[in-house]
Amino acid sequence: MSGPLIESLAGIVGAGNVLTGEDMQGYAVDHRRRYFGKPLAVVRPGTAQEVAAVVRACAGAMAAVVPQGGNTGLCGGATPDASGAQVVLSLSRMNRVRAVDTLNNTMTVEAGCILQKLQETAAEASRLFPLSLAAQGTAQIGGNLSTNAGGTGVLRYGNTRDLVLGLEVVLPDGELWDGLRGLRKDNTGYDLKHLFIGAEGTLGVITAAVLKLFPLPRARLTALAALATQRDALALFDAAREQLGERLTGFEMFSDLCLSLVLRHIPGTASPFRESHPHYALIEVSDMHSEQSAREGLETLLGGALEDGQVIDASIAQSLAQVNGMWALREFVSEAQAKEGPNVKHDVSLPISRIVEFIAVTDAEIARAFPGVRMVVFGHLGDGNLHYNVSPPEGVAHAEFVKNGPALNQIVHDSVSRFNGSISAEHGLGQYKNVELRRYKSALELGLMRKVKAALDPQGIMNPGKVL
Ligand code: ZN
Repeated sequence: MSGPLIESLAGIVGAGNVLTGEDMQGYAVDHRRRYFGKPLAVVRPGTAQEVAAVVRACAGAMAAVVPQGGNTGLCGGATPDASGAQVVLSLSRMNRVRAVDTLNNTMTVEAGCILQKLQETAAEASRLFPLSLAAQGTAQIGGNLSTNAGGTGVLRYGNTRDLVLGLEVVLPDGELWDGLRGLRKDNTGYDLKHLFIGAEGTLGVITAAVLKLFPLPRARLTALAALATQRDALALFDAAREQLGERLTGFEMFSDLCLSLVLRHIPGTASPFRESHPHYALIEVSDMHSEQSAREGLETLLGGALEDGQVIDASIAQSLAQVNGMWALREFVSEAQAKEGPNVKHDVSLPISRIVEFIAVTDAEIARAFPGVRMVVFGHLGDGNLHYNVSPPEGVAHAEFVKNGPALNQIVHDSVSRFNGSISAEHGLGQYKNVELRRYKSALELGLMRKVKAALDPQGIMNPGKVL
């Protein structure tokens, strides 16, 4: 395909980095294969200046720009529409670590860096970059920033937003904003970087960031606790927070159905318990002194909980392999559930104090409307974030069942709203929940968001049809 825009894009990044044929396929579909787009072209710039020139060219041609990182998003935020008119801007070639400053405890990295690579870069400098999520081997930091990704380290270190000190952004008119400051204190007016974090590319293209680093813990140890009720999991979390303080870096919960799906579908996984139990909590401790100290912390916590009857059984990992094995039981739930076929996913957050009541009330409502469905409930209990997924009743075709998605979404999201929760905790909105947002966000908040969008992107070319 050719045309004046394609030609000017090729002039900026080189013809080899403008895809217009079959090779666009991987960029046109989302990770879950829910959205099938048809881009005009896929452009792969190698520098921030090239990104700026690409956006300028697109703005001049009134062509929409869809920024894309590792394409692991769950809400279709990085997938173009099917008009054949949108340009996918892939940040994959922008994958340099520009600087590591151990004294300032920061690293300056480009948007296309793979998350896991950044964790390794930090570790090589004896530092921790704590953002951690299941897709980290493929996900790019630009996408993590644009969706304000959460993951398993939020309890101790916060969301992606909390890990950022500065940004470099290409604005919708093609101007390049250099906001790469590594300051922990900077009260010079509106904190503009936070507009772009979590904006899913609707206000500009993040090209680089200054990220916070932390001391690298000497030891990381996990335990798995078997529990009779979710309320017991919450009580155990409360005790863990009190006893372990900052050493508590993860507290995850999953049900026995989640565990059985993982054991059935993910090779090499095993439960540390001989019998099955209704619920499980995965506790992670990071210790600045030693593994011995981490072990003592977990033993004291779980010993007390066993004595009080809060916990039925518990297992503390004895090796790094066992630590990873326990995490696998939690991290593969989503993949194991997907192996059975498509399901209806919800990524919601609630005040932690109301989470158990939310699950009870909402489970009951769903069971009334769709008898026999299987609730696959797991998540980051310590953050109040549930992956509240619904699988069809045994024997019902998955593809047929997911047609009930809108009805299920409404039950779940109405309930979330009544409990003062959020319909998107860590996955973003994309094109999956942007319409839902209109139901649950106040008119005032939506109005403010639209004003911001119009002020920064008056032509409406940045990732249209997403978020708002
Ligand atoms: Zn999650």
